[in-house]
Amino acid sequence: MAGLSCSWQCHFLFSLFHFLFVMAEVGSFADRVKQQADIVRVVSEYVRLKKTGKDFSGLCPFHQEKTPSFTVSPIKQIFYCFGCGKGGDVYNFVMELEKCEFPEAVKLVAEKCDIAIPRLKERSPVERKENQQRAVLVEMHREAQSFFVKQLEGTLEGKAARAYLEDRGLDKDAIARFGIGYAPSGGDLLLRHLKSKYSEKLLVDSGLVSRDQGGRLFDRFRRRITFPISNESGKILAFGCRALGDDQPKYLNSPETPIYSKSNVLYHMDRAKDGIRRQDFAILVEGYMDAIAVARAGISNVVASCGTSLAEPQIKLLGRFTHRVIVNYDPDAAGQSATERSISLLLEQDFEVRVLALPPVGDKKADPDLFIRERGAEEYLRLVKEAPPYVDYLIARARQMDLSTAEGKRQAVNFLLPYVQKIPNRILRSEWATRIAQQLRLDEPVLRAALSKAAAERRSEVKIQPELAGRAAKPVERRLIRMLAEAEGFRHELAQQLQNARLYHGLETEKIFAALVIASLSGQPLQATEVAAVLEERDRRLLFEILFEDATEPTWEEALSCIEALQHRQAERELADVQRSIEANPPVAEMRGLLEKKQDLMRRLAAAR
Ligand SMILES: [Zn+2]
Repeated sequence: MAGLSCSWQCHFLFSLFHFLFVMAEVGSFADRVKQQADIVRVVSEYVRLKKTGKDFSGLCPFHQEKTPSFTVSPIKQIFYCFGCGKGGDVYNFVMELEKCEFPEAVKLVAEKCDIAIPRLKERSPVERKENQQRAVLVEMHREAQSFFVKQLEGTLEGKAARAYLEDRGLDKDAIARFGIGYAPSGGDLLLRHLKSKYSEKLLVDSGLVSRDQGGRLFDRFRRRITFPISNESGKILAFGCRALGDDQPKYLNSPETPIYSKSNVLYHMDRAKDGIRRQDFAILVEGYMDAIAVARAGISNVVASCGTSLAEPQIKLLGRFTHRVIVNYDPDAAGQSATERSISLLLEQDFEVRVLALPPVGDKKADPDLFIRERGAEEYLRLVKEAPPYVDYLIARARQMDLSTAEGKRQAVNFLLPYVQKIPNRILRSEWATRIAQQLRLDEPVLRAALSKAAAERRSEVKIQPELAGRAAKPVERRLIRMLAEAEGFRHELAQQLQNARLYHGLETEKIFAALVIASLSGQPLQATEVAAVLEERDRRLLFEILFEDATEPTWEEALSCIEALQHRQAERELADVQRSIEANPPVAEMRGLLEKKQDLMRRLAAAR
């Protein structure tokens, strides 16, 4: 037992000192950034925060929730989620959310707060090479972009392309605003433009140039209108291209490259994000022509998934700005099944989803681009405002099935059930179940039962593991922990007293106390998040909970009375031990000592009352 406890302590001390050492090593820049950075400013780039008292709160980006349990303290410069228990300082937040390492987090925070970065050493030669390669590829895309724009503006071929664009209602302003360009038909014009500057390998890696079977290089995009695809901060990472004539495929995009992965990027996000945040919803369309049409109709908060399948990273990206979305995909079969898949994925990420299914224009099924051209922006806006919740859309889809037979009804219910189960709110689930039963005229008890069963349970419900939920620590312990973490004036003295009298030994909160006492006695400025980093999950959570409790300014008098309370408890514990030993009926000599000790403890306890 003693051995165990020693090895735990050694390990623990080692981690703590190692941690302090590493912190000193990574050094002053990280500290300086942290002092200047505002955690509220950084977090609000990812989470919509609302001021609540002296803290801010919002929906946790690390777990799915409907009511905010994610809290940020501008005073302490830390965050904590009461739901999932994630917590820490601005770096912990960025590391967790961006899935990056400490040096990268420091860099990101510095960038976000406009703090100039001294050249950080990259960790390995491989990594340095990759970073360089990515930077070069981004630069190459910038050059390709100006090449495409020049082709559209100043060549004969470009003139034909401009005519085509005008025909689609895209005037000069729109072309400039969305950076639309033209990839000429020559086959190697871009290649020749870039060849002098970049190696063959980089050219192929960029996806702008392909290699034929004979090993010869040629332009990937030929005789196509080009649309630059940027990440959310506006860096061009890829191109989406539409054939000018009847060339196949009609749409050809950049392949996956070291800088571009289509499931990570939403077209138009760089320009849409402010509008999305402001209006707290986004319109999701399929292609860039749709996004451009909607944006030009005066609705800036539109993004395109660029392809029919919306991917989870794209939803997470969107979720940094809003959790409300109107899906407006094409009305064809592919678009419909894409709509249904998107609904599923969005619901899993706790989005509020509405669906806009545009009515046909004449006898043509209408995508947003066509609809706005034919019917105008105002009519489109009206339909956006009236877009029904996704369940109405799904019921309408189910009603298109043959409901005259029992089999058809069964199919319709099976189509709807998975969605019902994804509705997070139980009352809403049961409301929708009733509504579905009415709309589909379900009188079969079996189907009704299946529906109410689905309404009663939710498959993907997030449950907090009970063993990880914070434990109840006694108020005195909580108060002392808070003082050790924050009372600059007497932390050292307090730690000394707690240490000398071994007052926290045997408490449930022992490890938290030990960490804080060691850190307080080290003489270094204490940062709660650094202490938290050496604690086990349960203790770490408890520490954060305590730090976020409402509390008054601590005083030394209060500290003393807390110490007294702990002494009292210690005496009670000892008394119980002594009593147990007495009851074991030891030899006389020992018994005498025990009885004396019992008397002494009882006197002490009586005096304390
Ligand atoms: Zn959480």
